[in-house]
Amino acid sequence: MILDRRSEFSPETRRDNIEWMGHEEFDILVIGGGITGAGIARDAAMRGFKVALVEKGDFSSGTSSKSSRLIHGGIRYLENLELGLVFHACTERRRLRMMAPHLVRPLPFLFTVYRSGRLSPTKVSLALWLYDALSLFRTIQRHRMLHPKEALASEPLLRREGLLVVGRYYDCSADDARLTLVTIISSHLHGAVIANYAAVVGLLKAKGKVCGAEVLDRINGREVEVRARVVVNATGPWVDGIRRLDDPKATSRLRPTKGIHIILPRERLHTSEAIAFTSPRDGRLMFVIPWGSCAIVGTTDTDYEGDFDSVCASREDVDYVLEALEENFPDAGITDDDILSTFAGLRPLVREEGVATFKVSRRHQIMLSPSGLVSIAGGKLTTYRAMAEELVSEVAKILAKEHGVLPKRGCITDKVPLVEGNVEAILAEIEMAKEERVLDEDVAAYLFQAYGPDSFRLLQLITQDRMLGERIVSGLPYIKAEVIHAIRYEMALTLCDFMIRRTRLIYEAPDQGLGKAQEVAEIMAPHLGWGSGEIERQLTLYRDEVALVRA
Ligand SMILES: Cc1cc2nc3c(=O)[nH]c(=O)nc-3n(C[C@H](O)[C@H](O)[C@H](O)COP(=O)(O)OP(=O)(O)OC[C@H]3O[C@@H](n4cnc5c(N)ncnc54)[C@H](O)[C@@H]3O)c2cc1C
Repeated sequence: MILDRRSEFSPETRRDNIEWMGHEEFDILVIGGGITGAGIARDAAMRGFKVALVEKGDFSSGTSSKSSRLIHGGIRYLENLELGLVFHACTERRRLRMMAPHLVRPLPFLFTVYRSGRLSPTKVSLALWLYDALSLFRTIQRHRMLHPKEALASEPLLRREGLLVVGRYYDCSADDARLTLVTIISSHLHGAVIANYAAVVGLLKAKGKVCGAEVLDRINGREVEVRARVVVNATGPWVDGIRRLDDPKATSRLRPTKGIHIILPRERLHTSEAIAFTSPRDGRLMFVIPWGSCAIVGTTDTDYEGDFDSVCASREDVDYVLEALEENFPDAGITDDDILSTFAGLRPLVREEGVATFKVSRRHQIMLSPSGLVSIAGGKLTTYRAMAEELVSEVAKILAKEHGVLPKRGCITDKVPLVEGNVEAILAEIEMAKEERVLDEDVAAYLFQAYGPDSFRLLQLITQDRMLGERIVSGLPYIKAEVIHAIRYEMALTLCDFMIRRTRLIYEAPDQGLGKAQEVAEIMAPHLGWGSGEIERQLTLYRDEVALVRA
């Protein structure tokens, strides 16, 4: 099969794009390649605007690869009576399931209610009914209240003592880094000009109005001026920093809060469903989320003032999570020694004074500065598409009024799949690969869940070279073909990109994949022109990241 050149999204695409950025005047320049920027670029490109997007690190390297990976209505916001937010998020959950069914998958949750807890059975039962109602009863399945005996039969690790009732409800989960990446790639396929490792270091102005940005290519150290009619600041926790490039006196609009997760081997905390439980310290709602061979547990919510580029879990954060596990799963006996890894991210929340961190609203806000810089802060992974729709509609008004530029069409982001292709045909090919023992059962399932219709490219790579079908780390479903695929079709430029975001080896492999990192770097080397010195540098950078997840 011959691939369309435009379906490539490689280092060469990046090089050409940066070159192109220096010559074109764009309608919209988006700063930030997290889920918010990705959604905006996709929406704007689909409406027919000329769009560029620059990301200072790798796509999703900010908060968008460090979330709880839930596409959810947000049951915990019911307590704050944020009914509008929950309704909106439930609607977007349904849309995202239709846009990317291979990625956004249903997940049953058990909500535990204890005698000693803060929430009564009546309150939880009402909340779950309301949760179904706010999704207009078009949820995956309606909730059901279970007798403790029934719940304990399927989840024997739950604390028995004082368990009054358990509610089963449904949300969805998705790999956040992949969701961001496919949104970026979809933007590219719809004409957006995109580069990672391209940092905005200054804003261009004419007659007091922002008209572009100075962008530093962090791979070769060159700067390029990118001109645009409207510049959108979608930099999540870094939003205030870009606002200050525009106006050094701009006051802070963000209240970044840190959230951490710990990752455990699934066999140490085996639950067949996700579990929602409360922290004994402050009653905060937390989750255990089954994830392949692991269980993800979190999260915390604390004000953060450190370096945004090296956020990691502290001793205190981990103790908070372990204490909640001890209270809710006493027989599991989870200790430090069980932890495979941790990850930490910053919520780019809009500032609200005098409110506890976990009560700060997850609503987003669009801010227009006198110079015309458009910034967006707050929001959630789940609501990114709707946030993008709202922002691009606002920008379209500016483009029409001030520049006479009109879109070719309105917003169609929820009508077009994030990954287009013939799902039945690819499923049949995967089935055949299993029958012919080219792929193991778990690898085949993982490939489809991660890549959906794009899995055909991985099968094609394996057909060309059977060695590429081998696992990178035994026991995990990641295979060597993904290394080549990540470079050619997903703009992976560094060892970290592959080990942390194209796959999740850093979190899931018992040694963080260090034992295989050299081999992966050597597969990458000829495709990226690395010599032995560069391979060593990549390994050092990766070890630094490993130190953060082991902190
Ligand atoms: C612990 C935690 C758990 C969460 N769980 C969930 C969940 O389960 N479900 C859910 O819906 N939401 C969840 N969220 C919220 C969600 O993850 C965030 O709202 C979302 O990822 C924010 O995306 P963003 O694109 O705005 O920011 P980011 O992902 O941080 O992206 C901003 C990007 O801008 C780039 N950037 C910064 N400065 C520059 C510059 N000068 N030039 C170029 N690029 C720049 C950064 O490198 C970064 O990649 C969670 C958040 C946290 C912290």
